[in-house]
Amino acid sequence: MIEKTLVLIKPDGVVRGLCGNIISRFENAGLKIVGMKMLWVSRDMAKEHYKEHVDKPFYVGLEKFITEGPVVGMVIEGNDAIEVVRKIVGPTEPKAAQPGTIRGDFSHISYKFADNKNIAVKNLIHASANQEDAEREISLWFAPEQIHDYENVFEKTL
Ligand code: GDP
Ligand code: MG
Repeated sequence: MIEKTLVLIKPDGVVRGLCGNIISRFENAGLKIVGMKMLWVSRDMAKEHYKEHVDKPFYVGLEKFITEGPVVGMVIEGNDAIEVVRKIVGPTEPKAAQPGTIRGDFSHISYKFADNKNIAVKNLIHASANQEDAEREISLWFAPEQIHDYENVFEKTL
């Protein structure tokens, strides 16, 4: 099924100059970027985006992390894009993320280390977890006219 998913390059990825490298990984897999913007997340936006986490112990650190600098937001489209993007990103805890994934190649911190410092694990990326989250997050981040319908070369040669 062709799906759309929301991806954010979090502030750590932006300040580390990893945007190009991260975006290339999705493009190299043939996924299509159909929306893209840079913005600085407000505290209210953070609470809305991370709705399911606001009552968790790590939320204070998570809000601080996601609002500490600009993020790059993308809507990415492709065959089973939600699952495929999560595979390219790797698991949430950088320590556990395999080499070859974005989190595994560019981060290594454990939950324990971050929790002891009362900070979020800095893991470079947000990617929607499922269909319901993808729809909610895309409409939170992008107006319909900011999402573009075009054919990329992978589709032309499929
Ligand atoms: P994701 O969907 O893989 O980003 O993970 P979650 O939705 O479960 O969590 C959102 C974000 O909160 C993660 O990407 C981390 O930055 C942070 N986070 C999640 N769980 C923990 C935790 O147990 N400890 C700390 N310190 N941060 C966490
Ligand atoms: Mg999540």
